[in-house]
Amino acid sequence: MRYTTQFLLSAMAPEQFPAPSVPEIAFLGRSNVGKSSLLNTLSGEKAAKVSSTPGRTRAINFFALVDESQKRKLVFADLPGYGYAKISKSISAEWPKFIEPYLAERETLGLCVCLVDSNVPPQQRDAQLLAWLRSVDRHFVVVATKIDRLSGNERTRNLAALRKGLEIDDVLPVSAKTGAGLKDLWARIEAVRIAL
Ligand code: GDP
Repeated sequence: MRYTTQFLLSAMAPEQFPAPSVPEIAFLGRSNVGKSSLLNTLSGEKAAKVSSTPGRTRAINFFALVDESQKRKLVFADLPGYGYAKISKSISAEWPKFIEPYLAERETLGLCVCLVDSNVPPQQRDAQLLAWLRSVDRHFVVVATKIDRLSGNERTRNLAALRKGLEIDDVLPVSAKTGAGLKDLWARIEAVRIAL
């Protein structure tokens, strides 16, 4: 199905979150993982452009995906990229304070799309985030970005290393550059159902 993306708002505090409505998909990952590029290919240039506007990089940027009859079907929540900083005790130590409550409490949040770079060994920072998402019972899918940069053998090896290092059964390889894996990711997104 074809959607049009509409920017809703940038939130810096829970009271600014849009009123809960349709299933929401959150996009998370370390800076430079390829989040803007992926959002760009999934939902059109607008999303990535808005999210990289100065002042909005520390916000949660919300986008509505509407169908042909302008009916809102999904909401994408683009979360601030987290840094390369040393492991911190809380996942929120380097994140604005409203991120953790968003992930823990948002009733319409149906899926967290957690991006990791397929060219980079498993990172403790990502493992820590996944452990935390498990602890708050969030559904997530781990997506390995920039898969086009790897040969077949490297791909197999790196994906296995990610599964092991991040303690996950499944990782979805994608490329914003070639479009590889995007159909599978869309299928995961469209299968999201929420119980309100
Ligand atoms: P963000 O900081 O997570 O939003 O990352 P960006 O989307 O800005 O991407 C960071 C860098 O990785 C840029 O130089 C992109 O061109 C590059 N990049 C992102 N996605 C891909 C991809 O699928 N394939 C390749 N080869 N490079 C990518």
